[in-house]
Amino acid sequence: MSDTDSTPGRPADSTPGRPADSAPPADGRPANSEPAAASAPPKPKIGDSRPAPPAPGGSSAPKPGSGNGSDGGAGGGSGAGGGGSRNRRRRRRRGGGGGSGGGGQQQGQQSGQQSGQQRNRQGGGSSGGGRQRGNQPTPVQGLIAGEAPVELDEETLERRRGRQRKGRAVGRFQMNVHVDGDATHIAILEGRVLVEHYVSRPADDVFQIHGNIYVGKVENVLPGMEAAFVDIATPKSAVLYRSDVQFDPDDVETKGEVPRIEDVLKPRQLILCQVTKNPIAHKGARLTQEVSLPGRFVVLVPNSTTYGISKRLPDSERKRLRQILDRVRPDGHGIIVRTAAENVTAEEIERDVARLVGQWEQISALAAKQTSPGLLYREPEMAVRIIREEFSAEHRSVMIDDRALYEEMRDYVGAVAPELVDRIEFYDAAEQRLPIFERFHVTEQLVKALDRMVWLPSGGSLVIERTEALTVIDVNTGRNVGSSSLEETVLHNNLEAADEIARQLRLRDIGGIIVIDFVDMEIKENRDKVVKAFRAALARDKTRTQVFNISELGLVEMTRKRIGEGLLESVATKCDPCSGRGVIVPEELLG
Ligand SMILES: [Zn+2]
Repeated sequence: MSDTDSTPGRPADSTPGRPADSAPPADGRPANSEPAAASAPPKPKIGDSRPAPPAPGGSSAPKPGSGNGSDGGAGGGSGAGGGGSRNRRRRRRRGGGGGSGGGGQQQGQQSGQQSGQQRNRQGGGSSGGGRQRGNQPTPVQGLIAGEAPVELDEETLERRRGRQRKGRAVGRFQMNVHVDGDATHIAILEGRVLVEHYVSRPADDVFQIHGNIYVGKVENVLPGMEAAFVDIATPKSAVLYRSDVQFDPDDVETKGEVPRIEDVLKPRQLILCQVTKNPIAHKGARLTQEVSLPGRFVVLVPNSTTYGISKRLPDSERKRLRQILDRVRPDGHGIIVRTAAENVTAEEIERDVARLVGQWEQISALAAKQTSPGLLYREPEMAVRIIREEFSAEHRSVMIDDRALYEEMRDYVGAVAPELVDRIEFYDAAEQRLPIFERFHVTEQLVKALDRMVWLPSGGSLVIERTEALTVIDVNTGRNVGSSSLEETVLHNNLEAADEIARQLRLRDIGGIIVIDFVDMEIKENRDKVVKAFRAALARDKTRTQVFNISELGLVEMTRKRIGEGLLESVATKCDPCSGRGVIVPEELLG
């Protein structure tokens, strides 16, 4: 395949190193992903009409903790609310004491209690669907904890802490993490403004599996769609597109020059694969065979010649990092250096690489023993992933209102970024007498982000409507158009709208096709100004977007990479009486 070995241009989709789904992106990735985007495969609606296969044995509700035989111990099917969250807390404590990954893993496996809990959680996690199987492996956890911090001199620490005022960091961003039993909410504020919000739920072995690595079993290959369905031991089959298939040319007999998917994959074949996209609604997860393991400073791409350094780093820094890489790059594996590696010492990078190579060795050892579909590597929960990908000196603090998660995060940051560990703070809601999201005005901003209508500063408004195929945003001017020229007022209104739309798209996590109806402007220069301002506002969104010029009807069409299911979908349920349509047709009319 063409993009297997090409260093810089792997499709952005295949970076699992990002926070879940909604994730802000391509940090570690060389920036020129455009060519790859152009060659991205079409997206047939595979799986749309395909029901999930029946459970073996017909039981769709396995007994709690019974997923892996009798050793589960502490009861914990995640289906039952209370049990699920208890389970989850326990898991965190374990993480705090030395979860796994690299050196930690061996410890974990020596302790019968700990590995029992791991299995237990897995049993619980997959209980949402019907594909429980015996003999599931204990997956490698993408967590690091219990590791001694890197020793750095005071000067380095000081420099990395960045600006401070009165002994407190002054970063632009703040993260608020709120744990409410069955879900973890993560809010990212820029100044006081809420810019991103994620929800992570405990049943994440079914729905939040982005970045996880599996042994999958090819179920069937669809030559016409250039895709294959793969059983990865989750309720729904996952999809592997031709462009994400990897193979050794010597192993494949082809009729043409380029092997077709049916030449490479056969039903019942076992393959190693990684999820690049969570299952959304009726669509199964998307897979790649090009596995990558994200660390804090680098991404390891096993068995690959991929080699890249984030283009967001300055040239001098790239040069320094290249020299380090030449020394620490592991044989036979590719490495991508993330922007977080800026000013990081050779020793820290070396440790990150060694940790990831260690994880990979464990994963391949598990894979070699595996004779049926199963999970081999599990990404840590979303809060950890977001901190791993995003947390930097630009963040003034991370406030967490759950003691166990707070301790886990402190351990993690203490190991990878000791100079920032003081910014991980425990928010004691009882003592503060105010829930964390109230205290930082997240709740009120969330409520607005769930509304159809958004007010603009000068009295105009946006109406945001989501349909199955696309999102439509209507821009309205305020009632009082004022005395200055109409064109000027409209321009001003549209510029405000451009800014607010960019913010809302990111906050609401809206992906796919978006059509915006700005208020009509007579003067072409003004129309250009608005599109230009809109593009500039979108540039702050780390999720990839593409904006086209204003159409003849005055509409701006754009796309935004779909990563998560969307804010509204992640918190709301469909209205039953009207099936979400918003109107009820009288029964008499229908006879
Ligand atoms: Zn309704």
